[in-house]
Amino acid sequence: MTMTEAPGILESGVLEKTALETYVPPTKPSLVGLSRAELSERLGSIGVPEKQRKMRAQQLWHWMYVRGAQTFADMTNVSKDMRAELEQHFTVDRPEVVTEQISNDGTRKWLLRLPGDGVGRAHEVECVYIPETDRGTLCVSSQVGCTLNCSFCHTGTQRLVRNLTAGEIVGQIMVARDRLNDWIDRETPNGNRLVTNIVMMGMGEPLYNFDAVRDALLIVSDNEGIGISRRRITLSTSGVVPNIARTGDEIGVMLAISLHAVRDELRNELVPLNRKYPIKELLDACRAYPGSSNSRRITFEYVMLKGVNDSLDDARLLVKLLKGIPAKINLIPFNPWPGSKYECSDWDQIEKFSEYVFNAGYSSPVRTPRGRDILAACGQLKSETEKLSARERQALRAMAMTD
Ligand code: SAH
Ligand code: SF4
Repeated sequence: MTMTEAPGILESGVLEKTALETYVPPTKPSLVGLSRAELSERLGSIGVPEKQRKMRAQQLWHWMYVRGAQTFADMTNVSKDMRAELEQHFTVDRPEVVTEQISNDGTRKWLLRLPGDGVGRAHEVECVYIPETDRGTLCVSSQVGCTLNCSFCHTGTQRLVRNLTAGEIVGQIMVARDRLNDWIDRETPNGNRLVTNIVMMGMGEPLYNFDAVRDALLIVSDNEGIGISRRRITLSTSGVVPNIARTGDEIGVMLAISLHAVRDELRNELVPLNRKYPIKELLDACRAYPGSSNSRRITFEYVMLKGVNDSLDDARLLVKLLKGIPAKINLIPFNPWPGSKYECSDWDQIEKFSEYVFNAGYSSPVRTPRGRDILAACGQLKSETEKLSARERQALRAMAMTD
């Protein structure tokens, strides 16, 4: 299906949103997000004989993750009876697309709806596609909201409602490929894919939903399926130290650290998780990150906040702290959101900071804000249904610090 043929979705702009009260959760489970072993097991549960299961699971895997089949009826080399049987018990559904917005710079943002807790209740997450000349990056969410309340982040003002399942994480990539018409039979002169890179930098803290994120990324990087290599997948964490080594060992993707400050006092304020895992512990975990090397550097993200963390003293200390770590530094101009209390550093200051870091031997690109007009830039993601009062926020912050 091409973009313009998709039902109910406009080529550009916001769709009319169906009222949440009318939300009907799916009645059958989706097979998206299951490992091969789990797929075989589900096939067993509907009576597929053991000796056929592996082959059937392989067929399904191919249809779902290489061809992007949206129904069992599409799976033409699976017998008719088998298709009917599958249809009766399962789906290959991804999260439901509520709105699609297209920025004037080509960035696309999808608001996705997921089952909530209780009749007629739904959750929402956002997923953003950022086209560049040499790649297309999809920014994927790992949780509905986030418990961590970083003071400059919009998502942090939203209540954590729940962790996403592996299927809901893989489902975001599938939605993007559906909407961009980016599956294997896409007709392009050279067959190039649009979605080439994944960043786990959407809503939520991926290392607080470790198992589902791991299971999803293993599916996404499987080369007999979606096939996005681990080198093209970056997981960003605000610093959940105990799960950093596991990320390298069990997932093997590229690591990004939301550092943002070089002194504990300031980082405690910007990234409150720092009170639990201070800078030294965090950097020790980075030094020990399995698989990092000069060709596989750890990215340190640093949001530029005017008069807060953007002095040349900060830059000096940053360089000192990162000594011995194969690192690159990503400076992110602060993206304001309604009610945010910071300002973005002046361009001049960002350049000075960047130059200092560059002269010290670090690549220090400044991340160009994308999709600001549709609130799709870093830290701007937040679904409308999840507003939170200051008091609730404080209670959640206290909870996050004690668990
Ligand atoms: N929870 C994870 C991943 C999601 S946030 C983490 O914090 O790393 C992705 C990146 O966007 C992080 O580096 C985050 O600090 C940054 N960010 C959050 N709010 C921002 C804002 N308003 N402007 C610019 N960057 C922001
Ligand atoms: Fe959560 Fe990351 Fe936002 Fe902090 S920056 S509140 S960890 S999503």
